Amino acid sequence: MINEQEIANIVKKQRDFFNSKTTMGYDFRIDQLKKLKAGFKRYENRFLDALKKDLGKPEFEAYSTEIGFTLHDLSGTIKKLKRWMKPKKIKTNALTQPSSSKIHYTPLGVNLIIAPFNYPVQLTFAPLIAAIAAGNTAVVKTSELTEACSNVTKDLIEEIFDPEYVAYVPGEIPETTLLLKQKFDHIFFTGSPMVGSIVMQAAAKNLTPVTLELGGKSPCIVHSDAKIDIAVNRIVFGKFMNAGQTCVAPDYIVVHKDVKETFLSKIKDRIENLYGDDPSKADYGRIVSERHLERIVSLIDQEKVLIGGDFNKADRYISPTIMQDVTLDDKVMGDEIFGPVLPVLEYNSFEDVYDIISRLPQHPLACYIFSENKKVQDELIKNIQFGGGCVNHCIQHLVNPNLPFGGVGESGIGAYHGFEGFKCFSHKKSVLKAVTWFDLKLIYPPYKNKINLLKLIMK
Ligand code: NAD
Repeated sequence: MINEQEIANIVKKQRDFFNSKTTMGYDFRIDQLKKLKAGFKRYENRFLDALKKDLGKPEFEAYSTEIGFTLHDLSGTIKKLKRWMKPKKIKTNALTQPSSSKIHYTPLGVNLIIAPFNYPVQLTFAPLIAAIAAGNTAVVKTSELTEACSNVTKDLIEEIFDPEYVAYVPGEIPETTLLLKQKFDHIFFTGSPMVGSIVMQAAAKNLTPVTLELGGKSPCIVHSDAKIDIAVNRIVFGKFMNAGQTCVAPDYIVVHKDVKETFLSKIKDRIENLYGDDPSKADYGRIVSERHLERIVSLIDQEKVLIGGDFNKADRYISPTIMQDVTLDDKVMGDEIFGPVLPVLEYNSFEDVYDIISRLPQHPLACYIFSENKKVQDELIKNIQFGGGCVNHCIQHLVNPNLPFGGVGESGIGAYHGFEGFKCFSHKKSVLKAVTWFDLKLIYPPYKNKINLLKLIMK
């Protein structure tokens, strides 16, 4: 186990390296990103194997949501970095004329990146790419639950980076606790709201800013005018990918009572068609650990199961499960499910939907609205608080790097992806450049009756 002194040494070396200003220039950053891309490609097959081992990810899913996602992120960042780094011209107001104003994006310094288990590649490298792009150093800690992926990540980082620039720190809770004792310039944490709170409390001691990418119960609303065939295709895709272990998976369905029976019958058919009689033999992932499997299985009320409800501990398998006639009193509605169990509730009016959401413990990280009517879509978007979401799809909002990705309330603080990720790891340094050929005497004493002129200007 790494000890406190070793961790302190890594952070000290990174601070010295950051202070050397090596990371400031475009050339250095772009070289590191290109090096990471080349290395990542070399490690692609090792990552695919590790994702299979840790989470049973089918190759297509592993590529689309982890490997391809990261490569696409790297390519976009490499392409746009020069533009992002340019100071942004900002309008100067009348009170400060004549002058010009700009925002300079400067790196935050030494960052700690803590990743969760569910997308161990994407959620480690996406923040790291943004940190590098913005000119920072980083200490990276992955989840102890995904040992195979953590080993490949360690090998890749240690092969291509000096630890004074990017360091990999292995470990479980004790090591993370030691890490959190250090003074970082920014902590980027992805994980549960419970651990997010621990991270924020530790950061507060050093006044360290945090970005928290957390979870929450994300609703999926199916209105009476929704195209049900499309809705079930996309809901099954969003829910059962990675066996439901996706932070933005629809956590539960709220379906209009007029289409509830049709919806239930079609989603059952869809699951049967996609996964067959035995989903354990289909393209379908596994639960990360026995402990998580037991937690998810304990949420299933077999009397309410419409389809699924099967599990196999040794194989860490839970079949795609739909629960019907669910109410807020059911255990499955008590907390974020984070597994392949989808409860279905019904509503009559939007007030019912708002009531359900407001009585649940956390702000949703995502929300999905299936409806053909723009008024319905707009009303739900306006009246429900959520981090981000889709109309007539699931999960796709985080595939567009031009959309900031993050939560609200207990589902997170801050956002990243694309330029927003670069900004997340940058300080926005505001600079007003004044002219010297003119000097406004009004602001200097003696003030005499200048206040009358001031009152004319500042009103
Ligand atoms: P987790 O909070 O248990 O663990 C996340 C990280 O924190 C891991 O690296 C873990 O080692 C570390 N950790 C765990 N307990 C700790 C402690 N007591 N002190 C310090 N560090 C600790 O989360 P998880 O189970 O890996 O992931 C699932 C959660 O993450 C879900 O709530 C999910 O919604 C959320 N999540 C959010 C996003 C997002 O982008 N918003 C993405 C993925 C997952």
